[in-house]
Amino acid sequence: MALLFALVIDPAASDDPRSDFADTFRVIDPSAPALSVGELSTQRGDGIFESIGVVDGHAQETEAHLERLAHSARICDLTAPNLTQWRAAVQVAAQHAPRHGEGVIKLILSRGVEHGPAPTAWVTVAAAPDNTAVREHGIRVVTLDRGYGIDTPAKAPWLLLGAKTLSYAVNMAAIREAKRRGADDAVFVTSDGFVLEAPTASLILRIDGRFVTPAPNGGILHGTTQLSLFAHLEEEGHDTGYATLPLSALAETDAAWLVSSVRLAAPITAIDGVEVPVDAELTASFNRYLLSPRD
Ligand code: PLP
Repeated sequence: MALLFALVIDPAASDDPRSDFADTFRVIDPSAPALSVGELSTQRGDGIFESIGVVDGHAQETEAHLERLAHSARICDLTAPNLTQWRAAVQVAAQHAPRHGEGVIKLILSRGVEHGPAPTAWVTVAAAPDNTAVREHGIRVVTLDRGYGIDTPAKAPWLLLGAKTLSYAVNMAAIREAKRRGADDAVFVTSDGFVLEAPTASLILRIDGRFVTPAPNGGILHGTTQLSLFAHLEEEGHDTGYATLPLSALAETDAAWLVSSVRLAAPITAIDGVEVPVDAELTASFNRYLLSPRD
C-alpha cells in the first residue's frame, strides 16, 4: 500500500518534561528517499516498531502500543522513548489516515546511523489492506517449529524474544513456508511442543467455553488486540486466561482465531489439515468490537 504520510521524529529524552513536541516533527514526502545509507535499521534490522490500526481516523489502543514500544526498547537496550512525544506523533499521523475505513500507523524506532549521535525515529500512515475475506472466511494454518524451547527466552535474553523488532525476515519466511504447505499462515510452536503465536498475530483458542492464549512469558509478543478482546470478553461475562499450552490443546479447541491490530480477528478453519469449527456469529461480533473506537 502506498504511504499517505510520513513524519520524522527527533527523539526526545524520556524525561523531557515538555508537553509540546511539534518542533521535533518533520513532515517528509512519503515517496521520496529519506534514510541515510548508514541506518542500522536497514543494515541490521536493529530497531523496533509498532503497527497501530486506524478506523475512521481513530488510532486504536494507542496506549497499549506505546507501552509495548517502551517494553521492546527496554529489551533491545534502546533509548527509552518519550511517550508524550510519540503520543503526539500518533495524533498528528491519525489526522492523515483515511477519514472513512481502515488505515495503519507505523511507529519505527531505530538504533540510528552507524556511529551517529542518536536513534532515528519515524512514523508512517497507509491505508490498510482489505481484510474482509479473511475475517469472514477464515484462514488455514500449519504449525511450524520456532527452533527453541519454552525456557529459552529466560536463558537467552539476547535473542530479544518478546520484543517487536524490525527483524521480521524469519516471520515472513514462516508465512512463505506455510503457503508452500498449502495453508495461509503459520502458528509457531516451541521445539519441546508448546504453542506460541503466529508470525504476525496472537493465537486465541476456545476450549470448553473458556478463551485462552499462550502466556506472554518472554517468548512471544503480548498482543494489544488479544488484550483488548479479552477485556471485552470479560465484560461480556466470559472466562479468559493465559496458559502454557501444549500442542495437544490445538486438538481440543472448539474454535480458534488469529488476532492482530490490522487484520483483526481471523477465524482458523484448519490446523495442520484438521478442520476446526468456526463460530461465525462470535467472529463477526469480535470484529464489530475491534472496529469500534477503542482506547
Ligand atoms: N505476535 C506477533 C509476532 C506480531 O507481529 C503481532 C502483530 O504484528 C502480534 C503478535 C499481534 O499484536 P497486536 O495485536 O498488537 O497487533
